[in-house]
Amino acid sequence: MPRLLVTGAAGFIGRHVVAAATADGWEVVGLDRRRWAAGPAEHAVVADLHDAVTRPLLTEVDAVVHLAGAPGVRDDRPDVARRRWSDNVGATAVVAEGLPRDRPLLVASSSSVYGGAGRVGRHRPCHEDEPLAPRGGYARSKVAVEQVLARTRTGPGPTVVVRPFTVAGEGQRPDMALARWLAAARAGQPIEVFGSLDRRRDVTDVREVAAAMLRLLDGGHHGTFNLGSGTTHSLGDHVDAVAAVVGRRPEVRVVASHRREVATTWADTTRLETAVGGLAATSLVDLVARQATAQPVVEHAGGRPVAAHP
Ligand code: NAD
Repeated sequence: MPRLLVTGAAGFIGRHVVAAATADGWEVVGLDRRRWAAGPAEHAVVADLHDAVTRPLLTEVDAVVHLAGAPGVRDDRPDVARRRWSDNVGATAVVAEGLPRDRPLLVASSSSVYGGAGRVGRHRPCHEDEPLAPRGGYARSKVAVEQVLARTRTGPGPTVVVRPFTVAGEGQRPDMALARWLAAARAGQPIEVFGSLDRRRDVTDVREVAAAMLRLLDGGHHGTFNLGSGTTHSLGDHVDAVAAVVGRRPEVRVVASHRREVATTWADTTRLETAVGGLAATSLVDLVARQATAQPVVEHAGGRPVAAHP
């Protein structure tokens, strides 16, 4: 059975990739520095990517999906610049340099590298080949991640960079808008919206995102791919979906937005569709309903130990 290392396995997208890869017949090794409830078939490695355990592990697997990182455009805690550098850029360098060059590597960048689809003079989806215009430290760190890969993964062998657009579904990170709004609406508190209800987001279904990542990896593809739906929803649509799921209309407070909050995100999905097919559409209400009814995430170590690295 081929062995797949999933970094960030305790994370929102990582948990879905682990489940989908296990169902696809991979022997999965999950790595995360947080403890998590690993599945019965999963080898769980609780370690930081900068730890000594990582280098030998990278030589023992057949492919890697690298999702570990410091996500979140709005994170402004004091040490955020250091964490973004270490967890996004530095950790990617560890993986890219340690994984033998002939073995497939898929890395999560971000749609934030585009700086939004609504820039002056253009109203069209973002294409992978257009000049990048990152706004804010998170987006800049993801551009640096892509530069690390361009520098280290030269020569033959598949390297895939994916740029996911807003991912939603079971286990969404609590700092993300839908998760925050759902929690607020359920608690009878107001929903805080940055900028305007007219801002638009290309929202993707986490299950579809995980499946597309594995199709790209399995297919031996190389290059950069948007992981978006190709359609957009206004933030007003998001609020309507939350209201429909919770069963009551929450109070909405529109507050000033930061420059890093772009007006519109919108993926050109032509390249993805040509390579492995697009992401099947899921209605926003269905996605929010799935998010609302999902089991809370349990954080403790489980799964099978990795023999060489217990
Ligand atoms: P997440 O925070 O839920 O998961 C990331 C995981 O990586 C965490 O469990 C964390 O503990 C782990 N991690 C971070 N640094 C590590 C290190 N040095 N060593 C070991 N583990 C480490 O985030 P997510 O939403 O699942 O995002 C996964 C990836 O996809 C991230 O790189 C993120 O930037 C990217 N991304 C996410 C979205 C989205 O909408 N969720 C959109 C675009 C890009």
